[in-house]
Amino acid sequence: MFQSPLPQEYLGLSPEVLHDRITQARKVLGRRLVILGHHYQRDEIIQYADYRGDSYKLAKEGAALADAEFIIFCGVHFMAESADILAQPGQKVILPNLSAGCSMADMANIFQVRACWKALEKAGIADVTVPVTYINSAANLKAFVGENGGSVCTSSNCPAVLKWAVAQGEKILFFPDQHLGRNTALAMGYTLEEMVVWDPNADDNFGGNTVEALKAAKFILWKGHCSVHGRFTVKQIELARQKYPTVRVVVHPECRQEVVAAADDYGSTEKIQKLIRESPNGSIWAVGTEINQVNRLAEEQKEFDKIVFCLDPIVCPCSTMYRIAPPFLLWVLDNLVEGNVVNEIVVPDEIAFDAIKALNRMIEIAG
Ligand code: SF4
Repeated sequence: MFQSPLPQEYLGLSPEVLHDRITQARKVLGRRLVILGHHYQRDEIIQYADYRGDSYKLAKEGAALADAEFIIFCGVHFMAESADILAQPGQKVILPNLSAGCSMADMANIFQVRACWKALEKAGIADVTVPVTYINSAANLKAFVGENGGSVCTSSNCPAVLKWAVAQGEKILFFPDQHLGRNTALAMGYTLEEMVVWDPNADDNFGGNTVEALKAAKFILWKGHCSVHGRFTVKQIELARQKYPTVRVVVHPECRQEVVAAADDYGSTEKIQKLIRESPNGSIWAVGTEINQVNRLAEEQKEFDKIVFCLDPIVCPCSTMYRIAPPFLLWVLDNLVEGNVVNEIVVPDEIAFDAIKALNRMIEIAG
């Protein structure tokens, strides 16, 4: 989505002025407002979050806040869409910067997914295929999945959702993150030979596969990935182990398969936090996930003599999350104080109707 430039008066404000004005506007809005902050947000933003969490926890938390009229979602676009779908009637969800998208979510669009489904129909396998979309996807893809008997999943409940899906049909079409799909299927005991990759940009009509290969596959994995988690390597893990022989390595399941295999453990943002927080004092952790979250954990766990560091020494933050900057937050708050709602995220009813089926199916399966 297109974000118009901020008014001149918001440019060049000092951090102190921004902080004072944001604090003042929040006071004025009081309980009419709730701010949700994703773990990957920078410190200058996360400090204002009433609730912190991963994408699903935040969407659910937003939905539970029946008395908040405005939900400012400091995250990326697909998260604000999920929050709007799950919101109470009358609640308004606001994304401070409309250009805060997710490069992975953008790797699958509704036209490509429909074309893929048509190809599966042509191959005679669509009716035995269950579509599953990662929560990191546009609302219309969640609606597609809801309409076709599938489910949404998150990085924490992906094993439960895939277990459910394999009991429903003969095949799974998983999008947009091939790595989450592959890592989860391997952990369930499936082999690489049972998986094919669907390339939406392939020259042929079958995503770069033969019809025979599609028919033989159990998992059809969309060729999408996260640019942040794709940076982690086995070499980095080896270097961490050389430097700290007792280090424990934990990575996110959006990392490549060989990285997950070389780590001691893997899991969602919430699981990574839990593992590190519950580890004995003095533990050493090398972490393969977004830098803001790792740095906060490192700071928080210092008092227990734990060393927590990011596997990639030159890792950059998620650039799309980073677009939520304090001047944008102040701008949306000032508008709310003046009675204007800007940057509202509204999922059209016809899309929300099917998308909620897929989200509710996930909740039924995984809680
Ligand atoms: S970390 Fe990766 S998956 Fe998460 S919002 Fe950024 S680009 Fe998307």
